[in-house]
Amino acid sequence: MKIINNYINGRLKESNTKTYMDVYNPAKGTAYALVPDSDKSDMNEAIAAAKEAFLSWSSTSNEERFEYLMKISNAIENRLEAFALAESIDNGKPLWLAKSVDIPRAASNFKFFATAIMQFASESHEMTGEAINYTLRKPLGVVGCISPWNLPLYLFSWKIAPALAAGNTVVAKPSEVTPMTAYLLSEICIEIGLPKGVLNIVHGQGQNTGAVLSIHPDIKAISFTGSTKVGADIAAKAAPLFKKYSLEMGGKNPNIIFADCDYNKMLQTTVQSSFRNQGQICLCGSKIFVEKSIYEKFKSDFVTEVKKLKVGYPLNDDTNIGAIASKAHFDKVLYYINLAKEEEGGKVLCGGKSVTPKGGEKGWYIEPTIIEGLNPNCRTNQEEIFGPVVTIMPFEDEAHALKLANESTYGLSTTLWTQNLDRAHYLAAKIDSGIIWVNTWMLRDLRTPFGGMKNSGVGREGGFDALKFFTEPKNVCIAYKQ
Ligand code: NAD
Repeated sequence: MKIINNYINGRLKESNTKTYMDVYNPAKGTAYALVPDSDKSDMNEAIAAAKEAFLSWSSTSNEERFEYLMKISNAIENRLEAFALAESIDNGKPLWLAKSVDIPRAASNFKFFATAIMQFASESHEMTGEAINYTLRKPLGVVGCISPWNLPLYLFSWKIAPALAAGNTVVAKPSEVTPMTAYLLSEICIEIGLPKGVLNIVHGQGQNTGAVLSIHPDIKAISFTGSTKVGADIAAKAAPLFKKYSLEMGGKNPNIIFADCDYNKMLQTTVQSSFRNQGQICLCGSKIFVEKSIYEKFKSDFVTEVKKLKVGYPLNDDTNIGAIASKAHFDKVLYYINLAKEEEGGKVLCGGKSVTPKGGEKGWYIEPTIIEGLNPNCRTNQEEIFGPVVTIMPFEDEAHALKLANESTYGLSTTLWTQNLDRAHYLAAKIDSGIIWVNTWMLRDLRTPFGGMKNSGVGREGGFDALKFFTEPKNVCIAYKQ
């Protein structure tokens, strides 16, 4: 069994608890590594190391931090194959997906924020004849970064990179379900000579490790991606200590298809936006609303295309749908399929069952599933499933589509398919989502604000928004000589 260790104060070390948890390969349903079951004492040690390192790290120049982040980025790129294999084994995602998306994007996160800090400027406001105000943006201190299991290294690096670039030191807590690439990242940090204590990675269960970040007085900000329930817990604990927090949480994203869309492009993209990464991307469109006049055609074509997707062993090149990340999540997804079918009157048009592909006989796989006939307000349509399950429903007109889209406690992303420019602008402005895609999906410019509204998020990541989050603005007002 491969043993993962914490990365604290520049070195790899066993947890003070000396206990480990199993890490599973979901494609086989078996444990293949051990991850520390760390506790408060490990977190306290990491926070102390980060506090110690802050003075010197925050005094480095932008160029020096640029150099370190570029070295990390290059080292990830040089080990693309090993990182992709580790991510696929840990998470169950197809290897080709980890190799073409997850790991390259993680490397580009470091590159992006290395260069972003070189361009980051602060404002000045002149009061004519009286004074000049200028804004200093100072790093916050020690910050906490907590990430989930669905895009393990990608989302981990999306937080760590801007935090470090802005001059903070970091205590990071990757998901205990998928800790392997965070561990490989710590090996890279040692290899490239990142100064000790600048980045610390503590593994363990959320309530024993991540939760310490919410209550520790030396943690000045928390950047979290995960479930809405845990986000609420972090906010409740961090707010009385006046910490900054940025919360990227759950979603239930509408995909709205009008009859006037580019049909073939819409169909191919909708297959991806529904089932990419087994539907375990926070941006997947899980509720598909289709204009009534093309509903039957869409239903038939969509089912035909989805039936072509191959559920398979993640290391095979021809696998479209890999394994579900954990047994607990596998059970949750099957629970919702059953709920839709048995209690909410849904009709399963395709999929709906677990399967065991060759090579993954004991693994956790679920067929891509399409359900129709559900009330838009039923639990299946309102609660986050986060798996290879979508529902389809017809709508009458633009006003009806808008109502259906906004009838949700979530507000992360929406995809719109229409050739009508007026309609696209109108709905983009009216729909309560932090991200709106029109005639595309997952097209990402890292400079844009990323995040959700309502129960999907507080704050924005990406570009200068992330650098602003990880810095404290200070206004200096200097009077002119009179
Ligand atoms: P989760 O909330 O269970 O766990 C996320 C992280 O928080 C893990 O590292 C976990 O150990 C830690 N954690 C758990 N309890 C904690 C606590 N009390 N205090 C501090 N940290 C704690 O989420 P998950 O199951 O790992 O991930 C799936 C969820 O992530 C889904 O809801 C999905 O929508 C969401 N997600 C959102 C986005 C986004 O950008 N909005 C992106 C990806 C995933």
